[in-house]
Amino acid sequence: MLSTMSGQLVDGKNRARLAEMGQRTLDGGGIEREEALWLFGLEGSADIFDLMAWANRIREHFKGNKIHLCSIVNAKAGACSENCSFCAQSSFYQTGSPRYGFVDPEPVLEAADEANKNGVTAVGLVAAWKGLNEGPMLDEVCERISELAASGKTRPDASLGIIKSQKVADRLKAAGLECYGHNLETSRRFFPSQCSTHSYEDRIETIGYLKKAGIKICSGGIIGMGETREDRCELAFSLKEVGANVVPINILNPIPGTPFEKNPPLPPLEILKTIACFRFILPKKEIMIAGGRTVNLRDMQSMVFAAGASALMVGNYLTTLNQPVEKDLQMLKDLGLDPSWDKHDFTDQEESGCGCGEDKCETEVARA
Ligand code: SF4
Repeated sequence: MLSTMSGQLVDGKNRARLAEMGQRTLDGGGIEREEALWLFGLEGSADIFDLMAWANRIREHFKGNKIHLCSIVNAKAGACSENCSFCAQSSFYQTGSPRYGFVDPEPVLEAADEANKNGVTAVGLVAAWKGLNEGPMLDEVCERISELAASGKTRPDASLGIIKSQKVADRLKAAGLECYGHNLETSRRFFPSQCSTHSYEDRIETIGYLKKAGIKICSGGIIGMGETREDRCELAFSLKEVGANVVPINILNPIPGTPFEKNPPLPPLEILKTIACFRFILPKKEIMIAGGRTVNLRDMQSMVFAAGASALMVGNYLTTLNQPVEKDLQMLKDLGLDPSWDKHDFTDQEESGCGCGEDKCETEVARA
């Protein structure tokens, strides 16, 4: 991995090109793949800080100073049948991660209370399994979602794996689910290098059922798995195509026992640059910094907003610890950012069409 602190001199041409692309994005025009790849390829720290300054401007233009906070509850832990190479919960690897069955109502309602107390927008129920089918487990999941919705304390979200039928997505919606987390994880090209027990297509198909049910989509990925910058760029464009509303960026925290345990960490400036590139490609979306931020960014965590992030996963992650919520809230206050986000309002993310760039976009036609 190339260092991003190479000490190159400021390149006036780069500066002008960045300014042109930044202004165009602010004015509502998109950037092309080739241009995005150029952004991902920037190396000099002066260029990267220039890029971040534009990403910050784009975030402020489309999002103001509002920051969307989410938290998660590990609703079913460990012993997962899938072999995602970054994951401590896969039954393929010996990781010492906890294992338990589907959660009772109490811990979920406690998480809702905690979220409400801290002004956190949403609580997501996350289950370590391949996916959700019709049957008694779906009934139980729907009960937990209904209880969460009825509490009125938070937005009920969930991340429950692959869905293979419209009926399941419709049941979740009827239970009160508003947003479903289902990452594409990486590019289509790199995906088989990190998981072979299900496919990229399974993930895209799941998102299709959810969207049809009227559920908002939280979908992003994980960087630092050994993918290239091109893969990261492809991921961002795929997320644009599927119409993700919230885009979590996770940074690999290598877990002993997993195939990625010895992956070298990404340099913090490479991480910040990736966030800024995502903001250029997805100017109106909630770009959320999720797992791995504390361990990978350390003292540079607060810079994620200057790089264009507009959302933050707070509280502990599924299998690793995060810094205390109070510290995150103080960080936002110090930056003049406001976490009071309207729980149910996704309207500021509406792009024209679905972002596919086609003249006769079907989404656009359907909306009209
Ligand atoms: S990422 Fe999800 S599907 Fe993959 S192994 Fe972990 S819990 Fe299972």
